Amino acid sequence: MTTTERDAARRAELAGALTEVRQRIERACAVAGRSADEVRLLAVTKTFPASDAALLTELGVTDLAENRDQEAGPKAAELAGLRPDAAVRWHMVGRLQRNKAKSVIGWADLVQSVDSARLADALAKAVAAAREAGVRSGTDGPSAPLDVLLQVSLDDAPGRGGCPLDELDQLAEHVAQSGELRLGGLMAVAPLGADPDPAFERLARAAERVRRDHPGATEISAGMSGDLEQAVMHGATWVRVGTALLGGRGLASP
Ligand SMILES: *Cc1c(COP(=O)(O)O)cnc(C)c1O
Repeated sequence: MTTTERDAARRAELAGALTEVRQRIERACAVAGRSADEVRLLAVTKTFPASDAALLTELGVTDLAENRDQEAGPKAAELAGLRPDAAVRWHMVGRLQRNKAKSVIGWADLVQSVDSARLADALAKAVAAAREAGVRSGTDGPSAPLDVLLQVSLDDAPGRGGCPLDELDQLAEHVAQSGELRLGGLMAVAPLGADPDPAFERLARAAERVRRDHPGATEISAGMSGDLEQAVMHGATWVRVGTALLGGRGLASP
């Protein structure tokens, strides 16, 4: 196969997968009695090349997500070279060390994995520094605050990240006080090997509570390839889909 043939084959493969995922979202919305435009698709491109991200943007995908700063920064830069005119928003959805805050805000338009006040402070400081240096270039312009979601822990496995539910109100208040961050809502990953339904139900209740104090926090990012239907049933406004769109990642990067 020539490169052009390989590109065309991959494009067709991604187009087919995208249609299927969009149909799953539409069906789930219909079942949940929600309008299909209430749920947006976030394509998780981790472990896949920038060329795949480029093909997805050609197919109409506007939001891409990564979980590792080291991989995402170069990939976002490469995509900008491949498709300079594509209007893309990059989302950080993985665990984030405070010392990566500066690097992450260099490529991420939205950070979905804020789970501590210390991380929020590190991001806020990085945003302020970038603005002062005149290098912050978010989609909303150089002086816009950084959009963030609070990652909530739905199990008792601290190693997987996320703010415990009983500390969430405090964290939301902390982020809302920051002039550099804009609190958009909540994000969560369903517990491993357990029924996602009760977990997403807990998330929906937490989101409702946070929204009472912070009306702008309207987003619920939940649901992946295996459980997006359940997430849509419980009010997800973003579903984060990797495998069902791009294929399996193997065991190297779960
Ligand atoms: C990898 C990843 C996804 C996508 O998972 P799939 O099962 O491949 O759809 C979603 N959210 C986060 C935080 C991830 O790391």
